[in-house]
Amino acid sequence: MASVGILAIQGDFEAHSKAVLALGHTPRPIKTANDLSTADALVLPGGESSTMLKLLLDEGLFEPLREACTSGRPVLGTCAGAILLARAVTGPAQESLNVLDMEIERNGYGRQRDSFVTSVMPGTLGGPEMEAVFIRAPLIRNTGPEVDVLVEHEGHPILVRQGPVWAATFHPEMSSDTRVLAAVLDSLLE
Ligand code: GLN
Repeated sequence: MASVGILAIQGDFEAHSKAVLALGHTPRPIKTANDLSTADALVLPGGESSTMLKLLLDEGLFEPLREACTSGRPVLGTCAGAILLARAVTGPAQESLNVLDMEIERNGYGRQRDSFVTSVMPGTLGGPEMEAVFIRAPLIRNTGPEVDVLVEHEGHPILVRQGPVWAATFHPEMSSDTRVLAAVLDSLLE
């Protein structure tokens, strides 16, 4: 049973807590730098990345979180969390943790279809098609050579991985399908 630290300063951290519990692990909210030390794995939830960034900087959590994300522990960022993990952010540009070599555009699906639910082929996760919930989702514009693209939708990566750091532009925690979180936590055993 793993202790999964979920950044709990803004956004949909409660949905992630439920998903962690559903897999038989222990969710732990992360609000301060001290909370980071006991987590075996980390989740950065969806929400509003600019607000999260401001709170991280104001509360002195930005640098400790960046260090935790490079400590080799599995990390999953979803939607706004993926934006925080990226090397570069556009639309508009903002600071980021720079722990996953990708350029990501905020709200990259545009206004007309900013939120939608679709089915995607799960790629290397295996199994049948997977539901993917997009909410004002970012678009991954490019990825570096060390990044594995695990799942794509309409020619764009939507689930990527660079070593222990994973990012999804959709919200796996909003579907009953636990494959993404299960794969991230399985990487604890690699
Ligand atoms: N549009 C949000 C942002 O730019 C992300 C949306 C989400 O996390 N569902 O931060």
